Amino acid sequence: DSKIPHIFVTFGASGDLARKKIYPTLWWLFRDNLLPMQTKFFGYARSKLSKDGLRELCHPYMKVRPGETEKYEEFWRLNHYVAGSYETRRDFEMLNQEIIKEEQQQMANRVFYLALPPSVFQPVTVNIRNVCMSQKGWTRIIIEKPFGKDAQSSKELTDHLAQLFHEEQIFRIDHYLGKEMVQNLMTIRFGNRIFSPTWNRENVASVLITFKEPFGTQGRGGYFDEFGIIRDVMQNHLLQILSLVAMEKPVTCHPDDIRDEKVKVLKCIKELELKDMVLGQYIRNPNGTTEDAKQGYLDDPTVPDDSITPTYALAVLNINNERWDGVPFILRCGKALNERKAEVRIQYQDVPGDIFEGHTKRNELVIRVQPGEALYVKMMTKSPGITFDMEETELDLTYGHRYKDSYLPDAYERLILDVFCGSLMHFVRSDELSEAWRIFTPVLHKIERERVKPIPYIYGSRGPAEADKKCEENNFKYYGSYKWHQSNKL
Ligand code: NAP
Ligand code: NAP
Repeated sequence: DSKIPHIFVTFGASGDLARKKIYPTLWWLFRDNLLPMQTKFFGYARSKLSKDGLRELCHPYMKVRPGETEKYEEFWRLNHYVAGSYETRRDFEMLNQEIIKEEQQQMANRVFYLALPPSVFQPVTVNIRNVCMSQKGWTRIIIEKPFGKDAQSSKELTDHLAQLFHEEQIFRIDHYLGKEMVQNLMTIRFGNRIFSPTWNRENVASVLITFKEPFGTQGRGGYFDEFGIIRDVMQNHLLQILSLVAMEKPVTCHPDDIRDEKVKVLKCIKELELKDMVLGQYIRNPNGTTEDAKQGYLDDPTVPDDSITPTYALAVLNINNERWDGVPFILRCGKALNERKAEVRIQYQDVPGDIFEGHTKRNELVIRVQPGEALYVKMMTKSPGITFDMEETELDLTYGHRYKDSYLPDAYERLILDVFCGSLMHFVRSDELSEAWRIFTPVLHKIERERVKPIPYIYGSRGPAEADKKCEENNFKYYGSYKWHQSNKL
């Protein structure tokens, strides 16, 4: 494809996502010569900007290094900006004319990135379909969450898109699928004989999937309040990780074989119930050292005073199949907690037939997605020296040590490149999305209908204590005895 012109259009180019993520990513891919040779970029939004105005907005996030200025100038020379409305067909015709000028009557491929609020999704997609499709090459559409608010609204969006585009043209971004360790899950599981035979209910006690953020809404809770942490993180990112951890081995590594298995495992999960959840909402920390920490969720002026929106959630899911029946999959996520972290913990069962007087602790495989990619297995060893005591230690693969000089691209870099390549492996298919909403919609509606009050937890804490209790009840054991010795300081 390298000689064919490619056109990349960002709708909502004036916005937050465009300037912080999309344009920087395009620049880095361009800088590293990863894009097709003849790629031109178009920004489109209502704001009456010029190309230079757009450049100014993006510049603080572009991380241009010394020696790259010439290439950077070249990048912007390939850029265009078109101002227009999202509803008017004529404005899209104007955009199409501008694109055609750049294609120089050759066969060209087009990518449209919708960095827009969902309220303008419908007219923009209709206008793309009617006016802006590539005539001879392919056309692909990238969309961002939220993919609806519940099963019904998500189905409406899916049906709408299905009338306009084929499923293979739609790239639904879940940026967790672009992360190194999430992409590594398949290799860890299916490329290692030591793991694959133990990956089941005979050996695994529980699986804990965690997302923690150390800050609150920072005065911008208006958007968040409509959705809450379950929709913002659990129903999408954590459930995606769960399906990669739990799915059966796909027939091949072909994207649709993988996505078939992901759908299959989701189909084995019943609708979540409130009794299997813990909900929390953060309150101010009177001893907080930052302004943010002194603000509880309800103190955010953009959040209604009586909001019951959870900022923390734990959910226990059971996968009703032969591999996993009875193994709790615990999903946890929260804002304003004590640390930033995303990880998967596979906790193994107690060793049967104990000969060590109960001193053995469970094995645990920890896959840390962020920060600092790592994979470690907690295991028992004899304490070194003249003793028969035993202690916990680890087999440790820390990327920062083992792969010192490797460059791990950002999630968006991988994903945007995948769109150019047409690889749908790391994007969400419509049937996956529909299964995800099936699992979460009833409980989301119940919480809203019955105005279920979340448990308060203090900004900067580990979340509500009830969550630890729920983990314990669901066969996840915390010993508090494991000590990690960081030998090689990074
Ligand atoms: P944004 O800044 O609020 O909006 C992007 C652009 O859309 C704005 O610059 C504005 O451009 C236009 N716009 C905003 N509100 C509009 C309205 N009511 N009617 C018509 N046009 C409107 O949004 P964003 O943060 O860039 O996010 C874009 C999409 O990505 C959203 O679907 C969001 O949920 C999703 N997303 C964002 C992030 C992130 O980090 N920001 C992360 C994940 C997903 P003009 O006024 O110039 O037309
Ligand atoms: P751990 O200390 O045994 O903690 C295991 C889990 O229990 C974590 O999920 C932890 O945090 C949770 N927990 C903490 N306090 C708790 C409490 N009071 N009640 C119930 N649960 C509690 O083992 P670890 O976290 O795997 O390792 C300890 C430290 O060593 C970590 O900082 C880890 O990053 C580091 N380490 C790093 C590497 C590496 O970089 N390669 C390798 C090994 C260890 P949450 O519940 O708050 O999530």
